[in-house]
Amino acid sequence: MHPAAFSFDIEDWYHSQLIAGRDRHAHGVTVVRPGTEAILDLLDRHGVRATFFVLGDVIREHPDLARRIVDEGHELGCHGMDHQPVWQLTPGSFRAQLQDFRALVEEAVGAFPVIGFRAPTFSIDRSTAWALDVLREQGYRYDSSIFPAKVKLYGVHGAPLGIYRPARGDLVAHDPAGDLVEFPVAVNRWGPLRVPVGGGFYLRALPYRVFAGSLDRILAARPVALYLHPREVVPETRRLALSPVNAFLTYNNLHTVRPKLEKLFRRYRWVTMREILERDGWLGGVPGSSAD
Ligand SMILES: [Zn+2]
Repeated sequence: MHPAAFSFDIEDWYHSQLIAGRDRHAHGVTVVRPGTEAILDLLDRHGVRATFFVLGDVIREHPDLARRIVDEGHELGCHGMDHQPVWQLTPGSFRAQLQDFRALVEEAVGAFPVIGFRAPTFSIDRSTAWALDVLREQGYRYDSSIFPAKVKLYGVHGAPLGIYRPARGDLVAHDPAGDLVEFPVAVNRWGPLRVPVGGGFYLRALPYRVFAGSLDRILAARPVALYLHPREVVPETRRLALSPVNAFLTYNNLHTVRPKLEKLFRRYRWVTMREILERDGWLGGVPGSSAD
């Protein structure tokens, strides 16, 4: 069985696309610090190392969180500066964000250990494929922003489910000589359907056994990457008045996250996304064969 990687997108409740436009001060609470600390404590108790895609804005406000992530052996990755989707950026403003992010990380941790990027709202698709070139140019080695199933807000129809090297000019095609690696989050095949399972919503919605069964099936074929947010681990007590669908996507079954995480941490072998890529030869050496 392949190893699994947990990734955490480190942002506050008001960064969610489903809550876009809300006044961050109206709510009065912030979850990014208690949520990230709870995640780090939980990982520490289980001896698990994970990947943290952190917003530049979070590092500016909480540089000690970035230091703790690195000091405790986790992987630090980039989730952009302020959670603007790449759809709203240009190559120039995206490049500027990556440069700002780099400066903040260097100030906080004294080095730049980052090689991975995840776009806010999985916003790299055919319309924003230029972003992969900017990532290459800025020294990134892998991306985790191409969501290989079409869902309401995002997703790229036909993108590979496994790790691959997106070709220049066609981001769903594998180019063996490509210099940037794509590590998509977990999506399962179910007959002709593609069923996303990698995110917090699915972890919350599915009974533990169903979720673990789905991971078992993927892990028999290839490594997986899951993702979760601080607000899902330390839910706010006050809730926003959202539309019924967005409220369900945001708040359903939050109380089940911690117990499910504890079981998942015991059940699988967890490493960082970078370790999976290194182990399988994606970052130099002989390319692996987990593409699907
Ligand atoms: Zn995000």
